[in-house]
Parts: sequence; C-alpha cells; structure tokens
Amino acid sequence: MICMYCRAPLLAEPPVFLCAACGATPRRRSFHALFHAGRLFPSHGEAKALCIAEERRNMMFLVRHYRITPAGLYGNHGKGTVEGIDIQDLKPFSDASFDLVTAIGVLDYVPDAPAAFASVARVLKPGGLFVLHILSHLLHDGDEPPVLAATKFSTDSWLAHYPRDVPISTFRYRRQWVMRVLTEAGLSTEMVTNDDPGGEQTFFLARRPPSPAASSRRRRASPRRGSR
Ligand SMILES: [Zn+2]
Repeated sequence: MICMYCRAPLLAEPPVFLCAACGATPRRRSFHALFHAGRLFPSHGEAKALCIAEERRNMMFLVRHYRITPAGLYGNHGKGTVEGIDIQDLKPFSDASFDLVTAIGVLDYVPDAPAAFASVARVLKPGGLFVLHILSHLLHDGDEPPVLAATKFSTDSWLAHYPRDVPISTFRYRRQWVMRVLTEAGLSTEMVTNDDPGGEQTFFLARRPPSPAASSRRRRASPRRGSR
C-alpha cells in the first residue's frame, strides 16, 4: 500500500487520511493515480487547461502536458491566477477554448450544478475533457437533485480566501444525478472510482464529443469496407 503522490509506503492501517511522508490527502493521491494512468493526457500537443481553484501540487503535474490557466473562485490564489471566476458562468472565456477543465473539490460550493456543467461544456474544445471530483462524504448513490448540507462562514484557515461576510453553502450530491446532468450538458460521461486506502474516491470524466468535421475526416481517412 503506497501513496500515489510520493510513492512512500502508507504504514498505518486503513483508513489512511494524510500520507505521513508528504501529507497528501486521499483526493490528491487519487488525482495522481488518474494522472499516472494517462487518463488526463491530451490527445495532441499545445493543449490548454483551465484549472478551477486547483491545488498547486496538482497543477505541477498537469503543466507537463498543458498550458494552464489557473482560476480562483474568490480572493487571491497566487500570481497569474484569473480571479473572481464563477464556474456557473465562465464568461471571461471564449467558446471551445480548453482541452481540459478541472474542478476538484469545487462543486460542493456550487448552488447551480446544471449551469456549471453547461458553462464548462461551452468552454471545452470538441474532444476536450472535464474532470470533476466531489468529496466522498458529500457523494451518495441515487438520482435525486443536490440538497443543502450546511451553510458556514469563512473562519477555517482553508476557507481564509473567502470574503468573511459571504455565506458558503455546501451541497450533497447523488452519483446518478451528476452522471445524468453532465450527459444532458452534451458531455459523454464516465464515472471512475479509485479505491484509496483513505476511502473510495469518485471522479467524473466528462468529454465533449469530437466535432462532426473531425470525425468525418477520420472516417474518410479509414480504409473503405465493401466498396463496389
Ligand atoms: Zn505521500
């Protein structure tokens, strides 16, 4: 049993939340398992990624394959970050701009997930991939719409970048509902589960279909069968 982030052995009995060697959470370890399995690699060079409120440590790996636009939801996420981004309306970005959009541990704070999925689908290039992760304690089986789990204000250190007077709502999601709404946004969606020693981690890999022009080019390029 090793940490998928730093490859050190996880010495404790499961569930192992933080890796003793590098401090990686189950979410970060699972993101790297997905990355190292090649699931997040682009299909061509010069690829562009929009990373929404993403951990620097995850972007350090993605930067090997993508030119990254980091985007913050609130406040200062560091130099070079596009600030004040709302995943429900990604209006600063043009249609079909990105080969990859990541939202890891973002959706729990988003009141209108269908708007978020439609907005992500719009900025994805044909063939582009949306990687969505929802924390396991906020994700359950079922097809019911999301429900409010809690409302809090910025006090914890990990929420310190939120304005103090903005209430932060946390939503609970159902797997089959997320699958269905991503599909309704026009994304071809697969659910991938990583059995991390800290507990099961679910990712949704939602791909915008390649453009009809690209697929007809591929059809023309393939050898004809049964031609008369
Ligand atoms: Zn580690």
